[in-house]
Amino acid sequence: MFDKILIANRGEIALRVIRACREMGIASVAVHSTADSDAMHVRMADESICIGPPSSTDSYLNKAAIISACEITGAQAVHPGYGFLSENEAFAQALQDHGITFIGPSAEHIRIMGDKITAKETALALGIPVVPGSEGGVANFEDAIGVAEGIGFPVIIKATAGGGGRGMKVAKNAQELEIAFRTARSEAKNAFGNDEVYIEKYLQKPRHIEIQVFGDGKGNAVHLGERDCSLQRRHQKVFEEAPGPSITAEMRNKIGNICAEAVAKINYIGAGTVEFLYEDGEFFFIEMNTRLQVEHPVTEAIFGVDLVREQIRVAAGMGMSFTQSDLEINGHAIEVRINAEKLPNFSPCPGTVRVFHAPGGLGVRMDSALYAGYSIPPYYDSLIGKLIVHGRDRPEALARLRRALGELIIDGIDTTIPLFSTLLAEPDVQNGDYNIHWLEKWLDAQLGQH
Ligand code: ADP
Repeated sequence: MFDKILIANRGEIALRVIRACREMGIASVAVHSTADSDAMHVRMADESICIGPPSSTDSYLNKAAIISACEITGAQAVHPGYGFLSENEAFAQALQDHGITFIGPSAEHIRIMGDKITAKETALALGIPVVPGSEGGVANFEDAIGVAEGIGFPVIIKATAGGGGRGMKVAKNAQELEIAFRTARSEAKNAFGNDEVYIEKYLQKPRHIEIQVFGDGKGNAVHLGERDCSLQRRHQKVFEEAPGPSITAEMRNKIGNICAEAVAKINYIGAGTVEFLYEDGEFFFIEMNTRLQVEHPVTEAIFGVDLVREQIRVAAGMGMSFTQSDLEINGHAIEVRINAEKLPNFSPCPGTVRVFHAPGGLGVRMDSALYAGYSIPPYYDSLIGKLIVHGRDRPEALARLRRALGELIIDGIDTTIPLFSTLLAEPDVQNGDYNIHWLEKWLDAQLGQH
């Protein structure tokens, strides 16, 4: 087992990893930008080291600085968290070249699930059902029209290099496609430095259902059921739950086993998430994330496992501490993402937190790097906390969430907390009756704009 792990991240996820390290008796090293000298992850880690100026390109994405930090502190492994370098093939490779363990899959696994077209090809080859669409990239409008007419409108144009809900355009007919195709390409070029796009059937009322998988790198893999992350704004998740309200045990086992077998075949190591759109009883692969997800705590809650601990174990060459038959679902869990944003426009709202009071009690988990007096820097993601509740069943989890939201106080800045209190009063949310478009429609109706 490792003696010391460096965490190449910040915020709540850095704390999450530090906590796992501490329970395992492993020393932790925090890295930080100059804007984060006072951040909680720096205070909580055993050691910390500054890796650059505020801009993430020069700090949290600075591979050379992070590798130097490992050498200086003697860290044997790096946990990348999510975002930043967590799915960066070159980083995983560079660490390996320096004899440092990347706590995550191999550079090759990151590559084959990296850009979205390669990921779809990999998924197909592994027997995973995908969304109907173009075979690979679409180079010009004539080809785009051909593909769209073949699969039928509406279609969605997606950037091969896309991520974070960006770089997608919907077209309902040929006329819209012409404009959407052109703008999608130029936006992709600007945002990702790669103008390749592809086309998929645009599903009208799907749910976003994702399967948590875990492999030991030696041909064994399990699935830990699904998460329903359909409540999204601008293709970004805001509310996640497990198990999915629409998924039966039979469906779970079927799609779960397909995913587990697929990743076992490639000797996948560590945590991964296979994302699907789910409509009328059918699953359609959209992408795989080769890392820990923001919403992993809902899976931890219902299975009673520590996914970060498992990641560290398998990275150290130990097996997983569970097999498929050990994994049984217990109750229901929900996570809400709390952002430093001002409603109704969700405009980023960094500032100084005056009061921070986290909720507690049975079945409540608050993952956040906030503290009273903390100044949230304007340079990074607006996620400032995740509130996760666990109950014996969905109604109990909902009641617990309502209660916990009532206890949570974050004063001094605007947050998305009020959104969730309002949302919980909605019969559709209470009944779990929603799809990926529900929240956008509701926000339009509620707030007039978003
Ligand atoms: P990203 O990597 O940017 O998050 P994804 O491919 O995971 O992009 O898609 C994010 C979200 O976009 C999905 O959860 C879904 O809401 C929407 N989406 C993606 N593909 C489709 C599709 N073919 N039809 C309808 N909605 C889609």
